[in-house]
Amino acid sequence: MDTLAVHAGERRPGPDGSVVFPIYQGTVFEVEPGTDYHDIKYIRLNSTPSQVYLHDKIAVLEGAEAALATASGMAALTAILHTVLTAGDHVLAADCLYGGSHDFLSGHAESLGWTYTFVDPQAPETWAAAVRPNTRAFLVESIVNPLVRVPPLREVVAFARDHGLTSVVDNTFASPVNLRPLDLGFDLCWHSATKYLNGHSDLVAGCISGSAEWIERVRHTLNLYGGTLDPHAGFLLARGLKTLGLRVRAQNHNASTLAAYLDGHPSIAAVNYPGLPGHPDRAHAAGLLSGFGGMLSVRPAGGVEAAETLLKNLRIPYVAPSLGGVESLVTRPAVTSHGGMTPQARAAAGITDDLIRISCGIEDAQDLVDDFAQALEHV
Ligand code: PLP
Repeated sequence: MDTLAVHAGERRPGPDGSVVFPIYQGTVFEVEPGTDYHDIKYIRLNSTPSQVYLHDKIAVLEGAEAALATASGMAALTAILHTVLTAGDHVLAADCLYGGSHDFLSGHAESLGWTYTFVDPQAPETWAAAVRPNTRAFLVESIVNPLVRVPPLREVVAFARDHGLTSVVDNTFASPVNLRPLDLGFDLCWHSATKYLNGHSDLVAGCISGSAEWIERVRHTLNLYGGTLDPHAGFLLARGLKTLGLRVRAQNHNASTLAAYLDGHPSIAAVNYPGLPGHPDRAHAAGLLSGFGGMLSVRPAGGVEAAETLLKNLRIPYVAPSLGGVESLVTRPAVTSHGGMTPQARAAAGITDDLIRISCGIEDAQDLVDDFAQALEHV
């Protein structure tokens, strides 16, 4: 992965011998007679040299035939849905999707003529009852926010195949360092590249990977909806990708070190991390993931007040809701990422008001442990 991250997709020799692939900012290029509309080199059509270079790099990292970069993670999801579904179709979706994905389905599916059923991704025995003759796709996440659950992904793929559904996975939390879902048989894999893939909290982007045929279909949809990534942002994303393996391994290490420290701490009531022996998905997660990821969540022993005290006293992490950057971030999902859910829906999903989500950065693991130790003394 490390060698691929540096060299995949690179042109050798590069233009004018450049070691770093340059930013082609031109919106349009000269056209050969007979060129198909979607192949005209034009930025919105996702076909200019900087864009094709980035697509090639992402495809190799995901083990895909082809890939596509998008203007955001949400642009990736909506381009997939608008490709896979037409009016009258039905989609199965995990009931614990990222808030934006959940809100898109619950707020917009109806007006687009789609119907959907949310299913528990941890309960395969319940899925068949939700399938209808017009069901076309099954949407899941590989590691689920914020309780860091890992669904039985092999069962998702097998179920989708048996029922003729397109299997679609949001692999944002795992990154291809920890999981390559296409190797499991998923049809389409997408990311908020804003997070681990870029890794520096300084751009918004998304990406999609899959077979050449699927990606060509999704690209045509994206070209018409216009959710294209600008080459400047694409340049930063390609630069971030080169250090993906180094960053994610450091984040895996930091999260597992911190989880082990916090598990059993007298001021901490619960720690959610799939690498911990007590986590409900530990056994099958170990068979799916190369690393357990850089995300964990905890409940302090003293409720919301204790959670706020902990957040206030941490010196290294920023209190901010995103994830996957080199700097550690902490947030209370009930008032940020999952604030749009009703309190009842949050309670049903196990997202208590005192839950703190931690996105580990690449700082020194012992510094993070020491910082949590000093902050917990105030709780
Ligand atoms: N998927 C997951 C798991 C996310 O956490 C996010 C954003 O937080 C998204 C998708 C949406 O990505 P973006 O904000 O890049 O549109």
